[in-house]
Amino acid sequence: MPVHNETIAAIFDEIADLLELGDANAFRIRAYRRAAQTVRAHTRELKDELAAGRDLDALPGIGADLAGKIAEIVRTGSCALLKELKAGVPRGQPQLLKLPGLGAKRVRELHARHGITTPAQLERALAKGKALGLPAATTATGARLAAALGRRSEPVRTLRAVAAPIAAALEARLRATRGVTAAVVAGSFRRGRETVGDLDLLVSSEAPAAAIEAFCSFDEVAEVVARGRTRAAVVLASGLPVDLRVVPAASFGAALHYFTGNKTHNIRVRQLAQRAGLKLNEYGLFRGSRRIAGATEEQVFRAVGLPFIPPELREDRGEIEAAQAGRLPQLVTRADLKGDLHVHTDASDGTAPLGAMVAAARAAGLAYVGIADHSKFLGATHGLDAAALARQGEAIDALATRGITVLKGVEVDIREDGSLALPDAALASLDYVIGAVHTAFTLPERRQTERLLRALDHPRLTILAHPRGRLLNERPPMTFDMNAVVARAAERGAFLELNCQPARLDLPDVDCELARTHGVRLAVGSDAHGTDGFALLEPGLLQARRAGCTAADILTTLPLAKLRAVLAAAR
Ligand SMILES: [Zn+2]
Ligand SMILES: [Zn+2]
Repeated sequence: MPVHNETIAAIFDEIADLLELGDANAFRIRAYRRAAQTVRAHTRELKDELAAGRDLDALPGIGADLAGKIAEIVRTGSCALLKELKAGVPRGQPQLLKLPGLGAKRVRELHARHGITTPAQLERALAKGKALGLPAATTATGARLAAALGRRSEPVRTLRAVAAPIAAALEARLRATRGVTAAVVAGSFRRGRETVGDLDLLVSSEAPAAAIEAFCSFDEVAEVVARGRTRAAVVLASGLPVDLRVVPAASFGAALHYFTGNKTHNIRVRQLAQRAGLKLNEYGLFRGSRRIAGATEEQVFRAVGLPFIPPELREDRGEIEAAQAGRLPQLVTRADLKGDLHVHTDASDGTAPLGAMVAAARAAGLAYVGIADHSKFLGATHGLDAAALARQGEAIDALATRGITVLKGVEVDIREDGSLALPDAALASLDYVIGAVHTAFTLPERRQTERLLRALDHPRLTILAHPRGRLLNERPPMTFDMNAVVARAAERGAFLELNCQPARLDLPDVDCELARTHGVRLAVGSDAHGTDGFALLEPGLLQARRAGCTAADILTTLPLAKLRAVLAAAR
């Protein structure tokens, strides 16, 4: 079974957790955490790099020992150290570590003093009102803990970035199968959602048996749940369920539309068909018993009087009305992007030096790149103070670049009171300033709103980074008045970011739409921490496409001269 980077990163994280529970050397724990980060940020599959004979110990934070572990995981799907560590702790204990407010020390205490080693035992003890010596059974931490325990049963959705290489591999495998003329993953994946619950694979073939066989013997299949003549359902080793349907070519377009959804969009289109005296289902569009369309989606749309609606818009959020009125937007594409203003180097927590990041940006086809390393804040080990920022400015001036322009920026922390963590004089020398919240995510709504408004009022602030502060499956979005923030950004001529990190995708689609309708342009930022980070721009852009954004709605589609003028006007 092929091992993806996410699997390797998860194993390293788990090893770090287990080492923490075992009270191991802090340096060793950090090494595994850092390795997990590096592997996760690497956009090429390490299994492919190994197969190509690359040396992995050139990766940041990966020495010979960790490179050996990666090779072991790729070869065997697991790691002897992990098994050994697991055997040394009670079952369930690592899950306790994932709950908010529970560090390794407290988890060990829960075991030693109360015999608690699983989340279920903890939940029961809390429900009985037991005093567990947690600093907070009565305070906010207690409430957060209870909420997190309650969330345990919520299904975790798979990040699009994790599902994407699997979807591509499945499509390629099916397309290479005898008799198959098309293979597409439909569903929420095709609509560009940031997470997926499962994958719906649709195949066009007149020989379904061969397609079913190829699907069920895919090397990542852990379990075949159902297997019929034209459909099958499996669960992959990662836990992701995948459904396959095989349809004849004459039905493929109708089936693709049907399985792409969403449900309410489909209902609306079906009603349009009914009004025209037709019947639409996954087999085609019928007048009586005669199929009049179905081979392509375009045919189906045309037959009900609509132009082709891009999958990203099919949420019944006004796309049908827009299509009927001939007002469908020309959605922004990766080719429209001229630059990227959110890029880190090894001066803060990036993994590559300035020159390498600039070269990578140029190789990604960008005309300008903005360097925006972190400010020094709250004892962060990797932030830049005013002096370091000035030195970076000199290094940028001294850089001999051709074919790309380098802009000077910073990702400055927004303190809890809304002030910025660098002096105004340091910010004044830059081309633009990105403000970002990295702390105090759980302030009450009013205070969080005031904090963001005050930051936007700062005359030097140009872009508000990852405004929601969410980390998918890890941290909920911050609670604040987004309407007020968007309105203030519009007033101030500031911009909101669409951050392309796979677990952020922040702003989310509905907020992108709010910004668009207020005329606030989005800065699409890769937040690249390594040379392969620019590959995140294209999937990140899906949030903007789902929001109906055109190139004109995006700040970073502007050519350099216009961008400079707009940035200068914003400060
Ligand atoms: Zn950030
Ligand atoms: Zn960043």
